[in-house]
Amino acid sequence: MKNTKGELIFDLHMHSHYSDGGCSLQQLFDRLHEQRVVAASITDHNHIEAYQNLEGVQTYKIALVKGMECNVGFKREYYHILMYDFKDCPALQKYLKLVRKDDVKFFKKGLRQLKKLYRLKFDRKKVNDFIAKNTYLDKVRLNNFLVEQKLASSGRDAFHKFTKPLPEKLGYIYPAKKFFALVKKCGAISILAHPNKYLAFLQSEKKLQEIILQFKAMGLDGIEVFNNRQTKRYEKLHLDFAKKHGFEWSGGSDFHKEFGQIERKKPGRVVGHNLTAQCYSPKLAQLIYKAMEKEKNKTGE
Ligand SMILES: [Zn+2]
Ligand SMILES: [Zn+2]
Repeated sequence: MKNTKGELIFDLHMHSHYSDGGCSLQQLFDRLHEQRVVAASITDHNHIEAYQNLEGVQTYKIALVKGMECNVGFKREYYHILMYDFKDCPALQKYLKLVRKDDVKFFKKGLRQLKKLYRLKFDRKKVNDFIAKNTYLDKVRLNNFLVEQKLASSGRDAFHKFTKPLPEKLGYIYPAKKFFALVKKCGAISILAHPNKYLAFLQSEKKLQEIILQFKAMGLDGIEVFNNRQTKRYEKLHLDFAKKHGFEWSGGSDFHKEFGQIERKKPGRVVGHNLTAQCYSPKLAQLIYKAMEKEKNKTGE
């Protein structure tokens, strides 16, 4: 399907409830279908379970490019780098194990803090069962656990009663050199997500461009130029920069949830928003068309 101008819509950046997104895959695919997105990538933070649970959404016939948004540490800061079209390999499995270990650590630490703050007691078996059935463990899951234990009536209630003073989940941070080695081993493409976001700590465009070029030396393939988080001026600046330095470029809504805090502030943040083929460099467009071809063959149309 196409947008009102007859252009195809692709969106290579969004989150599901397999990380901090508010939508199940069913809800997310409903949104993609409504917005006439023909190809998408679900890029959950450090997690890929969405791709292992696609049974219920096969009927939508939306082409998928495998993706994940990883926390990458560099010079005492961390960056979000999207990894596309990765192959399953021992290096990827090792990375995912490290992520899981970090998630469990975050959750158990949260429980310890709750015990200390409110003198709560938790049954060890119930804790372990909850951990085993949740692939992503953040503050939302701590709230869910408190609801399950009948200590709160809803996630919101659990937050206000208990978890508000607890720190937010940062997520596993992989050092840049190791991350780019992983990308190489998985035969993937790496794209720096929402570059303008880092201006908050880098302070200047010049410094940002320096960092991007340092990433390039390590193996970074491209930058996310189109993301609705930045002005047209920045889009142009980053597109020119990408072309000048031989980078790939891409687009993505970074959709998290309907009527979430970010979406309320920026109503344009829906899946697929303005993301046409021009938002992707030829290499990424090719990846998308390959996924579309695969989807077409699968459904026999
Ligand atoms: Zn991000
Ligand atoms: Zn994101």
